[in-house]
Amino acid sequence: MITVDEARARLFELVSPLPAEEVPLERAAGRVLARDVTARRDQPPFAASAMDGYAVKADEVQLHAMFKVIGEAAAGHRFHGTVGPGQAVRIFTGAPMPEGADFVVIQEDVTRKGELITITGDPSANANVRPQGGDFREGSTFAAPRVLSAADIALLAAMNIAAVPVVRRPVVALISTGDELVMPGEEPGPDQIIASNSFGLKALIAEHGAEARMLPIARDSEESIRMAFAMAEGADLVVTIGGASVGDHDLVGKVAGDLGMERSFYKVLMRPGKPLMAGRMGEAAMLGLPGNPVSAMVCGWVFLIPMLRAMQGLGALAPQLRDAVLAEDIAANGPREHYMRARIDRGRITVFPNQDSAMLGVLARSNALVVRPPKDPARRAGDSVRYLPI
Ligand code: AMP
Ligand code: MG
Repeated sequence: MITVDEARARLFELVSPLPAEEVPLERAAGRVLARDVTARRDQPPFAASAMDGYAVKADEVQLHAMFKVIGEAAAGHRFHGTVGPGQAVRIFTGAPMPEGADFVVIQEDVTRKGELITITGDPSANANVRPQGGDFREGSTFAAPRVLSAADIALLAAMNIAAVPVVRRPVVALISTGDELVMPGEEPGPDQIIASNSFGLKALIAEHGAEARMLPIARDSEESIRMAFAMAEGADLVVTIGGASVGDHDLVGKVAGDLGMERSFYKVLMRPGKPLMAGRMGEAAMLGLPGNPVSAMVCGWVFLIPMLRAMQGLGALAPQLRDAVLAEDIAANGPREHYMRARIDRGRITVFPNQDSAMLGVLARSNALVVRPPKDPARRAGDSVRYLPI
């Protein structure tokens, strides 16, 4: 059996970054920028007023100073004249600063009578002017790779970039296996349960910029599993769920092998998730997840997401762990790396007493997986542990 790190390293060997495609900006959120892009203009494109008020010369600004209002500048409508000594232009936020003016006295500090204004409030030292290019300059670089956030999209829009090069979404075929499984909404027979893993994994995959194709549930027969693999044709990554242990009905490894899968590894020194399998099947990578619902999801965070990130050009990296302080004692760990369902609240983390890998309720209450190295000794409340946020 190999370690989690070794397994992840081998998984990264099975995938490579996908090509780029151009998408309109309004469909780019959550996608990975494939190449650097550059701003197509200065922002602001001119010195602009940051406030509603009066544009004047800075060296004339003092309490009780008076000015004659000679015009108006609004957003989208500049004032075409020049501000001379003793003159002011009524100005609104976002308007270009008029020629000759370099200070905006906010309207709250001004008393106006007809065309005359007097500064009646103590003017601030701040000129209330946004300099040209103060946000970004034409030609400035927005660097790839990067998952585009809402803020990034706003910035790219301001840079006048209407379409962006992003990495093609990885296509993941999801195959649940098992005679006992029915889809949510169906009427299960007396010995059946609902297929939950494919749904949880689909959500996880979508959260990480990839597209999951949920295939029909494969039954525990070679024929049915072979058919599912055939339907997965065209996917970048084929993920099977269940059927990968050593039971009589665990046929995924056999069928994948018959279909030419070059196995990279089978079984990882971890808990939950030991019967993990991976390899290469033609053009696609293949990841065989254990069937137990928590195991499948944990393998999703520990292995599948890093693969999807690598496929999107974000690097071949382990998920980043954080530190937290234990709220309660925990017992010594066994020989496998253990991903314990836990809840972190204001820096203190509590490991749930029930770590059964079939308990989805516990998983849903968790927001962290405490990562215990093999043979980690018992830990006391107050000790620091590492965890993976989920
Ligand atoms: P297996 O690896 O096929 O032996 O499955 C291990 C356990 O996980 C069994 O209790 C299965 O019923 C359960 N299981 C397998 N696949 C799924 C699935 N897609 N959704 C929910 N439970 C599953
Ligand atoms: Mg099964």
